Amino acid sequence: MQKRPDRREPAASTAVPAVRTPPRPVPEVEVRRSARRRRTVTAYRENGRTVVLIPAAFSAAEERRWVDQMVAKLQTREERRRRTLASDDELMDRALELSRAHLDGRAVPASVRWVDNQNRRWGSCTPADRTIRLSSRLRGMPEFVVDYVLVHELAHLLEPNHDQRFWALVHAYPRAERALGFLEGFEHGATGGRPTDDDDLEPGAVDC
Ligand SMILES: [Zn+2]
Repeated sequence: MQKRPDRREPAASTAVPAVRTPPRPVPEVEVRRSARRRRTVTAYRENGRTVVLIPAAFSAAEERRWVDQMVAKLQTREERRRRTLASDDELMDRALELSRAHLDGRAVPASVRWVDNQNRRWGSCTPADRTIRLSSRLRGMPEFVVDYVLVHELAHLLEPNHDQRFWALVHAYPRAERALGFLEGFEHGATGGRPTDDDDLEPGAVDC
């Protein structure tokens, strides 16, 4: 079921539907100065924080200017990523593509959709009705990570349990190990290692 925006009249039929963007926390920025760096500045996300590497010789003013610039650049890049796979239809198409590429096209979901109520799981799958749900926390993450979660849930359509057969299917996706590492690092940074237990797992869904 589609979520409708609150406090708004239903959109006219000619209107382009707005892309739903979840609220994003302001990222914490860590500046690291490097004596080896002379001119180059690099920025990346690490465990939910933004890390900016700058030359040790930068003044405070240069640091501020470059941090602002690099944070804006990262956000633009992430917005661009967020726009791909924005809709459930695009997610479904991507799932079918991955199934063909890595699972001989044997995993065919009935539906694949984004959900906002999965804060501990990255995805879930109900083999009985072949539905797959992906946590909207994955929006904006690297493509190979979203692909991994899709492959994981697709593999559950063929093998509901996390047994050897299941992992053999998942590892047909070449970047499975790298994606697992990324998600573990992210989870550790995001929750400080504390488990959260506020997910709404639908009846019959696999606990991923
Ligand atoms: Zn699983």
